[in-house]
Amino acid sequence: MEVVTLHNMPQNTGWIEVVCGCMYSGKTEELIRRLRRAQIAKQKVLIFKPKIDNRYSSNQIVSHSEQSLPSIVVDNPSEILNLSKDAQVIGIDEGQFFSPDLVEVCEELANAGKRVLVAGLDQDYRGRPFGPIPKLLAVAEYITKTLAICMVCGNPADRTQRTTEQHELVVVGARGVYEARCRKCFVPPTTD
Ligand code: ADP
Ligand code: MG
Ligand code: ZN
Repeated sequence: MEVVTLHNMPQNTGWIEVVCGCMYSGKTEELIRRLRRAQIAKQKVLIFKPKIDNRYSSNQIVSHSEQSLPSIVVDNPSEILNLSKDAQVIGIDEGQFFSPDLVEVCEELANAGKRVLVAGLDQDYRGRPFGPIPKLLAVAEYITKTLAICMVCGNPADRTQRTTEQHELVVVGARGVYEARCRKCFVPPTTD
């Protein structure tokens, strides 16, 4: 008997989903929402975040709206590969902070039949493509760009404005350092 397919979701295969956007756009909320649904469906979910990001808690991914899920902190994307052998669904937050190897690791996981979800900043505070996220967008099956609300004018915001004079690429999480801005209100730093 012919099997009638009622939907177009992939079956018996892995794939990559990327949730990208500026700070405060709801990337972590969206990642948590998708991962919780997988957990409810009793899928084996593992969640990772890079070591650099320890702003709220070392072993959780946490949204600015204080939702959280337990996670494993890793230094190197290859650790994700080693730890994920039995997982069906793999969530990765703050993907922009991982080395370029993240792309190959996600590809290998998806090729092994796993659902891979990555959330991360697509632009840094200068408005330039950030770490491995742009390449991940090129190989992902599903891409979601989340937008925040511009803190100056209220338009949809896709940029992260640094409101202090620091010049390092990564100034993690300190409150009051960043705000969401739209294209019109974003002022790129002139000195970097
Ligand atoms: P991200 O992971 O993209 O930084 P989060 O998922 O951690 O974002 O947080 C999203 C939450 O941030 C929103 O639900 C809201 O509570 C809060 N927030 C703070 N500033 C803004 C803003 N300018 N626009 C939208 N949401 C904001
Ligand atoms: Mg986040
Ligand atoms: Zn604006």
